[in-house]
Amino acid sequence: MCGSLALVGETSSGKRIAKRICCGREWCEECREQAHNRRIARIVKRLLQVDPMGYGVITFPEEVRPLMRNPRTLALLGKKLRSLLRKRGYQKIYCRWHFFGDKSTKHNPHLNVFCDGGYLPPGQLSDLKDDIRRALLPRSMANQYGKDLVIHYDFTRDPKRKMHWIKYVTRPTFLEREWDDQLASMLYGFHNGCFAGTWNDAPKWKLTGSDKKFNALARLAEGLHPESGEPVKWDSKPLPWVLVLMQNPVHLGAWWYSLPPTRPPPAQLGGVEERLNGLLKRKHAAFLASEEYLEQLIQGGDQCK
Ligand SMILES: [Zn+2]
Repeated sequence: MCGSLALVGETSSGKRIAKRICCGREWCEECREQAHNRRIARIVKRLLQVDPMGYGVITFPEEVRPLMRNPRTLALLGKKLRSLLRKRGYQKIYCRWHFFGDKSTKHNPHLNVFCDGGYLPPGQLSDLKDDIRRALLPRSMANQYGKDLVIHYDFTRDPKRKMHWIKYVTRPTFLEREWDDQLASMLYGFHNGCFAGTWNDAPKWKLTGSDKKFNALARLAEGLHPESGEPVKWDSKPLPWVLVLMQNPVHLGAWWYSLPPTRPPPAQLGGVEERLNGLLKRKHAAFLASEEYLEQLIQGGDQCK
């Protein structure tokens, strides 16, 4: 069952973290919320480099959707969009598929994209949309159906709006396996959410309010301790979650937990060591004294001979 196992890791200074293992499937009720937060944690550090942030949504005509039930098609469409945007000079691109819309349980794949784009004059924007339409839908099909891709584009510099978009794009849309069991099977192992471009810049904006928790979660997503930034070395084998629960875990978010150290903290360790050393010294002294006594007895015995 999802969430029944956990990995425990430790930093070199003895700080312990537990990571409850989730399946990450969009329709899994057990881990849906936590997997969503993990997706945000995995991408937020890079998206903090994007200001202003452009956000596009590309919707496909109903007639084309049956052809989009193949994960390889979805992957190729995403790749084509990313390389088109790269050719047009965008440096930072992230895209992710939604499989269903908000209000319907009918398959409705649409491609979300973030890019380092701001305001586009109307001419440039319609030129960009035309380019995307030509790249993602063969003109013969557009003519045959008399329909084309619907593309929405917006941009912002507002941190709250950016974060709202990030949460919206990373959210699960395939909420019930029963909506499309066959598609669910085909999507096993599908890598949704892909980056393109270069991502080495310093952050250009900051998380605000309760979204600040994602700073710590982003560090955990990179395998680092959320406070000290030390790398966490994970055990090779997972443990049953119940065994981790017995160690008083504190939830940091997204099913990451901090655990109390197994070793006592250094101050206490010093105390214990001192006490232990004192005890050993006294024992040693007693041993030496008894040896000396024995020696004297033996020597005394010798003298009797
Ligand atoms: Zn799950």
